[in-house]
Amino acid sequence: MLLITCPVTRTDELVADRRIRSIANHPTHVALHVECPQCGAVHVYRTGRRWEQARTRVADRAAAQSAVDAAVVTARAARVGIPA
Ligand SMILES: [Zn+2]
Repeated sequence: MLLITCPVTRTDELVADRRIRSIANHPTHVALHVECPQCGAVHVYRTGRRWEQARTRVADRAAAQSAVDAAVVTARAARVGIPA
């Protein structure tokens, strides 16, 4: 059994193994193609340590960039005399 989140309906679905259509092994992750019991489409779920590390790096970069963006906005506001 797998617990998936349908990207169409955003609902969590418990899925039987027989609904796994294919499993592809990639250097960075394993891709499972799962027939969704909720919407009937085939969704791809990727899993694996290297895949998660790559996702974490991307998320960390995005968070760091948002902190920089917020600092720039605060600095600009201070320069033009808008209270933070
Ligand atoms: Zn679905």
